Amino acid sequence: VTQLAPGARMLALRSFTLPPATHTNCFILGDEDLVVVDPGSLFPEETARIEQALEALARWGGRLREIWLTHHHADHWASVPALRARHPGVRVLAHPRTADLLRGQLLVDGMLAPDETRVLGALGAVRAIHTPGHASGHLAFHVEGSATLLAGDLMAGEGTVVVDPPDGDMAAYEDSLRRIEDLAPAAVWPAHGPLIAGAAAAIRATREHRRWREACVLEAVRRAGAADLGAVVREAYQDTDPALHGLAARSALATLIKLQAEGRVREAQGRYSPGP
Ligand SMILES: [Zn+2]
Repeated sequence: VTQLAPGARMLALRSFTLPPATHTNCFILGDEDLVVVDPGSLFPEETARIEQALEALARWGGRLREIWLTHHHADHWASVPALRARHPGVRVLAHPRTADLLRGQLLVDGMLAPDETRVLGALGAVRAIHTPGHASGHLAFHVEGSATLLAGDLMAGEGTVVVDPPDGDMAAYEDSLRRIEDLAPAAVWPAHGPLIAGAAAAIRATREHRRWREACVLEAVRRAGAADLGAVVREAYQDTDPALHGLAARSALATLIKLQAEGRVREAQGRYSPGP
């Protein structure tokens, strides 16, 4: 357990997530009324680490009240059934869209509306911010007093966030990055990889990376002419390990959908060409 701030701790849990990440960062917030964010490991020994941390906090009067999910991907909630069994009465909260997407897989007990704010002990006010793009119901959590953003999969501490259509939406993702840039957080705590201290520079770099990659995709379409998605990825992701081209293809498709909506690329029968 890493103590991040008064009322905020983190455990990096080994999880089934996307490479290069191998762990999901799970956060325990609050003093007496505790909130666990993104308990996402299927490994019982990893979920046991959350239990140990909660037991230690129980000695100081801490009780698990709520579990908040940033979004519906299983590497952000796989520990929930085990936690629910140990803590009857705990409420699982997420964005309404996440609750819809999880129907039949996981019961969400309540909704976190965009901009809903909770005060969590010494940590102070924490505000839910709807940040679609990686997932349509994605929430980030802004710890207002310390200008810290729990970013979920909006920002990555390692590698690049995958935007996987149709739920993933590149235009929405870029809008969400712009919105968190306006919050000017001092630190970003992502769901995967190390914590990000220079938040402003990291957000700017993430936005610039997306713009650069979009230019690579557009250039690949121009150069290859009437190319299919595989050819666009081979051309536009030459810097990326070919083992990751399957994942890259999802983000490339998201970029092509955005470029089509902007009239800069045309698609016919799975082949892409420069727009009208
Ligand atoms: Zn995700």
